[in-house]
Amino acid sequence: MRCLVTSARPYDQQFLNAANGGRHELVFVETVLNADTAFIAQGYPALCPFVDDTLDANALGTLARLGTRLLVLRSTGFNHVDIPAAEAHGITVMRVRNYSPYAVAEYAVGLMLTLNRHLHKAYSRVRDGNLLLDGLLGFDMHGKTVGIVGTGKIGTALARILHGMGCRLLAYDTAPNSDCQELGVVYVSLEELLAKSRIVSLHVPLFPETRHLMNTERFAQMPEGAMLINTSRGPLIDTSALIAALKSRHLGAVGLDVYEEEADLYFKDHCDDIICDDSFERLLTFPNVVITGHQAFFTREAMQTIADTTIQNLDDFNAGKDSPNRITTHRAAH
Ligand code: NAD
Repeated sequence: MRCLVTSARPYDQQFLNAANGGRHELVFVETVLNADTAFIAQGYPALCPFVDDTLDANALGTLARLGTRLLVLRSTGFNHVDIPAAEAHGITVMRVRNYSPYAVAEYAVGLMLTLNRHLHKAYSRVRDGNLLLDGLLGFDMHGKTVGIVGTGKIGTALARILHGMGCRLLAYDTAPNSDCQELGVVYVSLEELLAKSRIVSLHVPLFPETRHLMNTERFAQMPEGAMLINTSRGPLIDTSALIAALKSRHLGAVGLDVYEEEADLYFKDHCDDIICDDSFERLLTFPNVVITGHQAFFTREAMQTIADTTIQNLDDFNAGKDSPNRITTHRAAH
């Protein structure tokens, strides 16, 4: 198939070309796909967007007029695509349902350890010749209670790692899973999880009902000094409420790989630019906040699986085969 790969970085090209082996005609552009740029899809029955592309009803309307029939998402999350609108236009949407959950789970642990042991500060201190330990005191993870919000593939992989570190594990999920229960994870209400956890890590998808899951009221339910980690999707957290909870010193540490307004900011170099997002800039001023640019997925293994699955999705669509990677309004709701 002729497939336009949007928001493409050199690493996308490298992994997708290797997986493709010349089967499909892949064209790579850096352009971010949205309602204003959708005209670039002219002549491509298939598009391969990433999470910073916005496929809302307007963009999909243009794509449908231009003859787009397939979107193969290079992601698990699909909150950037209006699935009912795609369905109404007869555009098939496929995603990478399963790829290394370890990449994201291990990264979440990395953020926890960075914040707990102040590795971000130690790194620059030592380079400046300051080898004092003052201000770098952390705590043993062993024996601490960690609350996992969402125990799907990533939440379960995280539970296994933290179990190995000797943490007590609480979880909240609308569909508890037996793998976690066998590990000794205890399912509780979100309120109880927030009240009892030293660290809370978010792993639910972004749905209308999970938007601002963490808000003023929920922050108040967390104990003073607690740590919050978000490697899922930015809008799970109400950023203004987060800033207030940090300014009041109620929250002890925050690790964010995703940010509520990341669409215009992430996956770009702003080194010589002025960033005008004041909330983002405010978050960067806190010594107990670590922010990264949506890189939790970014391991060789995950990139390989994303590329292989994307090419397989093109193959399956081309051959008229159904696939569990196809997203429908019915599947999206479950
Ligand atoms: P998954 O579908 O396997 O698990 C999601 C879990 O959330 C399920 O167990 C589900 O029952 C639960 N859930 C759904 N709605 C809920 C609700 N309202 N309340 C409580 N629980 C709810 O997904 P996954 O593969 O574990 O991925 C989780 C999320 O991680 C993705 O949706 C994506 O947004 C994010 N992600 C981020 C990165 C990154 O690089 N930062 C990479 C991959 C995935």
